[in-house]
Amino acid sequence: MKRKGKIKIHRIIILIVALLLLLFGVKMLIEGIVNKNENPPAEEPSGSEPVKEPDEEITGPSDTQENTLDEPETPGEEPKGEDTPEDIVIVENPEAIDVLVNRTYNLPDTYVPGDLVKLTDVPTVLSNPEVNQMRSVAYEALKQLFTAAKDEASYDLYARSGYRSYNTQVSLYSSYVTNHGQAAADTFSAKPGQSEHQTGLVMDITCEAMNFQLDDTFGDTDEGKWVSENAHRFGFIVRYPKGKEDITGYMYEPWHLRYLGVELATEVYESGLTLEEYFEQ
Ligand SMILES: [Zn+2]
Repeated sequence: MKRKGKIKIHRIIILIVALLLLLFGVKMLIEGIVNKNENPPAEEPSGSEPVKEPDEEITGPSDTQENTLDEPETPGEEPKGEDTPEDIVIVENPEAIDVLVNRTYNLPDTYVPGDLVKLTDVPTVLSNPEVNQMRSVAYEALKQLFTAAKDEASYDLYARSGYRSYNTQVSLYSSYVTNHGQAAADTFSAKPGQSEHQTGLVMDITCEAMNFQLDDTFGDTDEGKWVSENAHRFGFIVRYPKGKEDITGYMYEPWHLRYLGVELATEVYESGLTLEEYFEQ
């Protein structure tokens, strides 16, 4: 009897252990399945949404409406896939005279040139004080360019839009999105941080024959032709040449002059390349 009782107890213990093991196994199995289901979402990068930032100048040539800020330029179409966060590089040398700024290489949102000056000695078009500024070295060169145009060819050039802050770009882009929708805005506008105007090294110029506006017919005017052939002598290049939209990311903008210094501007001009191509070679 005693022996039988012992055996019974053994069996019961074994049974209990077996049940516990079974329960444990089932528990592990369930947890394994649950984890599998939960993991994928947990691994997804948070904030993978492409950051849509406002852009730059321009409105379609037709809607000059609101901006007293600056003019409509016609920024080019966005290169495909170039605005995802992974493709954007924040430049580390925003104050460099030869800094490359485009839809890939962006300026820090906090960058403001330290040596902006007011355009006091050249004819301007807009009343907004912000755009009537440039970095001092570029402004000195602009004065020389305008003086030479007058002395050598009797042309009167006008400064229309120079420095533009990051926040101004944000406002412009927002208004374009509000008025035209984001998809449309993205086809004609650059995003904040991607506008060369934030460098303070740029001036959009025009003339009386253009009624002081900006559009690509400036390239056909006598003034525009003279500028395209002579700007480099004073340190400027026509930054967005015709037919190079796929490389620069912008439509032809014969009015948009970028200061690089005489040496570099002359080299880029003589190479016949865009700034992007010149730096890549
Ligand atoms: Zn411009």
